[in-house]
Amino acid sequence: MQLLNQQLLIGFLLAICISLLSFKLGFLSKSGGLAACLLGTIVFGLGGFAWAVVLMGFFISSSVLSKFFKIRKADLEEKFSKGSKRDAWQVWANGGVAGIFVIFHAFLPDAIWPWLAFCGAIAAVNADTWATELGVLSKKNPINLITGQTVERGASGGVSPFGTFAALLASLLIAILAIVFWPMTIQNPIGSQSVLLLIGITAAGVFGSLVDSFLGATVQTIFYCPQCKKETEKHPTHSCGQTTSYFRGWKWVNNDWVNTICALMGGIVMILASVF
Ligand SMILES: [Zn+2]
Repeated sequence: MQLLNQQLLIGFLLAICISLLSFKLGFLSKSGGLAACLLGTIVFGLGGFAWAVVLMGFFISSSVLSKFFKIRKADLEEKFSKGSKRDAWQVWANGGVAGIFVIFHAFLPDAIWPWLAFCGAIAAVNADTWATELGVLSKKNPINLITGQTVERGASGGVSPFGTFAALLASLLIAILAIVFWPMTIQNPIGSQSVLLLIGITAAGVFGSLVDSFLGATVQTIFYCPQCKKETEKHPTHSCGQTTSYFRGWKWVNNDWVNTICALMGGIVMILASVF
């Protein structure tokens, strides 16, 4: 118990430092910083070192990509409902599901599935973020996953070979971190299973990001700007100042819900995989 209290305290202090730094660097808004502090405390404090490494792998790589490519894709920025500074809703949409799996681990410390589900969920949101950030740089326009028609770069529900390849790399990064820092190595050497795990986590991440695109092409709420004649996630006001109107999708399914489901899918794939 005392060990857990100590770990929670260290986790809390680390989470404060990282959240503050991220806020200063412009990765997170103020609300996003507070949410990241709470999420970091849960993951570092209840999980531990390996869990922290996997979370940071996602957080650092996706934040740097968002910032680094901000200027190059400035003209596409309007398509996304939010800028590159993540707010609290985005932090929970990306990390909330993973956080729940860490809480499961705290109650069931001997079970392996919470760790695998955590890695699957993080792989999925990392895949989705890389696909979104790098996919818009693709030379070819993406196609809508459902209709097969060409859509504009950055449009929700669009997929391109380049974006899917980015998703694969993003998942692979998380899978490698997960295997190298596997927290149960000492009690439970995985040996030959590591290749299976590598494939499993990578596949879970890519699958989650494809579900994200599928939802973006079907049920996610998309608005329309009559002035720019463009689909957008922005509502009520487009970046041009014009009021956007409802275009398609279910009204309660915004991008944050789609990301949450993406993470959940990555986690569920790994729970199913851990049964076998
Ligand atoms: Zn507009």
